[in-house]
Amino acid sequence: MSPRRRTFAVTIAAAAALAAPLGAPAQATPAPTTGLTPQLATAYRSAKAHAVRQGVPLWITSGKRSWAEQRELWRDGLRTYGNPEVARRWVLPPGESTHVTGRAIDVGPLPGARWLARTGSRWGLCRTYANEWWHFEVATAPGRRCPPMLPSAAQR
Ligand SMILES: [Zn+2]
Repeated sequence: MSPRRRTFAVTIAAAAALAAPLGAPAQATPAPTTGLTPQLATAYRSAKAHAVRQGVPLWITSGKRSWAEQRELWRDGLRTYGNPEVARRWVLPPGESTHVTGRAIDVGPLPGARWLARTGSRWGLCRTYANEWWHFEVATAPGRRCPPMLPSAAQR
């Protein structure tokens, strides 16, 4: 996909998620692990292989984002929520988003995300925001307990 089309698709998916922040992010073509940190890519691939063996549906809905993509999401958030304080609960500016640095993935569908929330610490993968069931980062050593979730990205 061309960068422009990819930006469009990511923006549409995020806009749908923003429109219904407590619902599932819009289904899109599973995003690749390209651009993720090696640590996160390896952790996700291990989790994904385990999910496949267990028959659990799991894929990345949004992984690494460019600065421009995140800036567009941030602008969408400002338009949707009207002020930065509220918008920050759901989307961060490009200088602060862990998606821009390749350190975060959003996953779906809901059953797969729930499975990953239960089992992900095995690979160091943790849900980091209580209001985003889809957002995971490497936040602990493999096999260790995940840290408590932040209420939302606004508390980062
Ligand atoms: Zn995310």
